[in-house]
Amino acid sequence: MPEVRCSRCGWEGLDKDLRLVHRPNPVDPTDVVPESGCPACLSYQHLEYKEETAIIPETFSKIADALLEAKQKLENLANALVKLGAVSELTKLEEELEKHEAEQQAK
Ligand SMILES: [Zn+2]
Repeated sequence: MPEVRCSRCGWEGLDKDLRLVHRPNPVDPTDVVPESGCPACLSYQHLEYKEETAIIPETFSKIADALLEAKQKLENLANALVKLGAVSELTKLEEELEKHEAEQQAK
């Protein structure tokens, strides 16, 4: 659901919260046309749709959290391997982790 902001009164909300307003028909002055307007000030000229900027960073932060959690699990696994004496396996795992992190940073 896209987020919408009204630059006139500062209202912020969702697309579905917009209110139907009527504005003069530019081609027929006796007519009006329905338009989505700000529910607070009824302006239809100042609405800014911010789907791109609002939703994507949130998605990225969820991915970042998931990656951090995955990294923590791998580190726990690495520590467990050290305790088991599987040092050569650990070296491989570290190389994989570094490769993985380099790939993530490249994106
Ligand atoms: Zn407004």
